[in-house]
Amino acid sequence: MKSWVEVSGTRLVENLRAVQAIASVGGGAEVLGVIKANAYGHDAAFVARILVDAGVRWLGVADFEEGARVRGVVGDGVRVLVMCGLQEVDCRDVVAYELTPAVWTLEHVAMLERAAEAAGQVVRVHLEIDTGMCRQGVDLEGVAEVAERLAGSKWVVCEGVMSHLSSAEMAGSWVTARQRERFDDALQVVVGKGIRPEWLHVAATSAVDEGGTLGWLRELAAEVGAKVMVRPGIALYGYCLPIDTGRLGELVKPVLTWKTRVIGVREIGTGETVGYGATFTAKSLMRLALIPVGYADGLRRTASSGVGDGWVMIGGRRAAVVGRVSMNLTTVDVTDIAGVAVGDEVVVLGEGVTADDHARWCGTISYEILCGIRARRV
Ligand SMILES: *Cc1c(COP(=O)(O)O)cnc(C)c1O
Repeated sequence: MKSWVEVSGTRLVENLRAVQAIASVGGGAEVLGVIKANAYGHDAAFVARILVDAGVRWLGVADFEEGARVRGVVGDGVRVLVMCGLQEVDCRDVVAYELTPAVWTLEHVAMLERAAEAAGQVVRVHLEIDTGMCRQGVDLEGVAEVAERLAGSKWVVCEGVMSHLSSAEMAGSWVTARQRERFDDALQVVVGKGIRPEWLHVAATSAVDEGGTLGWLRELAAEVGAKVMVRPGIALYGYCLPIDTGRLGELVKPVLTWKTRVIGVREIGTGETVGYGATFTAKSLMRLALIPVGYADGLRRTASSGVGDGWVMIGGRRAAVVGRVSMNLTTVDVTDIAGVAVGDEVVVLGEGVTADDHARWCGTISYEILCGIRARRV
C-alpha cells in the first residue's frame, strides 16, 4: 500500500460529545452528523457506523449516491438528509433508500410527489431557505408559493425548515444578522401557510461554536413549536475555523492520520538539484528520503519547498519537503534524522503536521485538504 489513512473512532466520539456539549448550552439540540465527501476523507461508512453507535440519529450527505451508500450501512431508523440538490433521477432513490432531501422549488415538490405516489409512500423533506448564500434555497419572494404547495401535498411532508450561514465564523457579522432576520421572516410565511415543522436548523460547526445563533434559533423554535438541530461536519473530524468567542477549537482533536513509508534513501552532494524544475539546490551534503505520495494522492504541489515549505513527520521529527512535490513521489530532508531507512513509517498528515498546516502551505482551509486525500482507510 502506497499510503493509507487511520481514523480514531474513540476520538471521533469524543469530538461528537464536545459538539453536543457546546450545542446544548442553553437548551437541547439534535446533532446531525455531516458525512458528505466520504466524511471529509474519513470513510463515510466507518464514520456513519461509529456515530450511529454513539447515538446519532441524523446524518447529512451531499447527494443521493452517498445517501444510498450510507443507508446500506445504517439501519432504517437513522435519518439521512441529502443537502445538495435534487434531480428527477434521484427521486426513486429518495423513496427506495428512505432519504430526506432538502427541497426549495415547486419542481422539487412535484417530482417527489410523483415518486412518492407511485410507491405509495410519503416522503419527508426539509425546506431550504436562501437567506443570503445565494447558492440554493428559496428566497423570501418565492417562499410563500413553495410553502403553499408543500402544505397542500398529500405525499410530500415538510418536516424541517433549514438554511445555511455564509459567515458564521465571523462572530457578530452583519451578514449573519441579516440571514437570521430573513430566516425568521421566511419561517413566519411557512407557518402562516399551515406548516408545522418539527425541526429548524441553520448551524454548521462555526455557528455552533460562535454561540449566538443557537440562542436565537431556540427562541424561534419555541415560538413555532419546533426543535433545534445542528449540522456539524468539520468539528467531528477535529478541526474548526478560528473564532474568538469559540471553545470548540480547544475541545476537539483531529481523528485522521495519513501515513506512508519511506521507499528510498539517498545522499546527494553540494550543488545537486532536486526534482522538477531543479528548484532546490543542495548547499551541503544531504540525505533525502523518498515517499510514494504526490499531488495525485492529495499532497498538494503547493507544499513544495520554496512555495508552501511543507513537511512530513518521521520518527516524531519534521522532515521538510525538498524540491517540488511530483504526481506520485515526494522527497524530504532527513539529513538530521538519524537512521531513517526504507520501510520506515512517515506521517504525511497527523500528529505534528495537521490539516491546518497543510492548508496554510496551500492557501486553503482544512476542509479542502481533508477531502482531497486519496488514500484508503485501514
Ligand atoms: C458541509 C455542510 C455542513 C457542515 O459544515 P461544517 O462547517 O463542516 O460543520 C452543514 N450544513 C450544510 C448545508 C453543509 O453543506
